[in-house]
Amino acid sequence: MLKKVCRDLRQAGTLTDEMKTVLSQTFQKRSDQALVLVEEGKVTRFKFGPSGRTVWAVAGRKGEYQVLPESMFCTCDDYYFRVMGRKKQLCYHLIAQQLAEATGRHRSDSLRDADYEVVTGRHRSDSLRDVDYEVVTARWKPAGADGT
Ligand SMILES: [Zn+2]
Repeated sequence: MLKKVCRDLRQAGTLTDEMKTVLSQTFQKRSDQALVLVEEGKVTRFKFGPSGRTVWAVAGRKGEYQVLPESMFCTCDDYYFRVMGRKKQLCYHLIAQQLAEATGRHRSDSLRDADYEVVTGRHRSDSLRDVDYEVVTARWKPAGADGT
């Protein structure tokens, strides 16, 4: 659903009321939180040279998180606890990143490949540090296994 809205967004170049309605029906208050982040310019794309590797950062209420659009992954706690636990589809950082990319409403920063580890290391949350992503994913199945 988010992919469809983003595709329409790219074509229209602007977020129509219809798209907003679809977003809020799908994501409830997270769509509003995401729109606020986009409007406040909290989404940044870091492009590393010469490799051309891209990293997205979204500044949320509690900190700055790294978003990987290709794998629809975010380093925030909400993603870690709820999305992997299948209680939610997406955190609002991912929604914000998708909307910002589709509308072009994001900051851009160019960095050298040598800075890659510094930038990505800064966004890694404690819970994900040194933890292999596949292991984490496996651990959080099925939903509700953590007893909450
Ligand atoms: Zn997130």
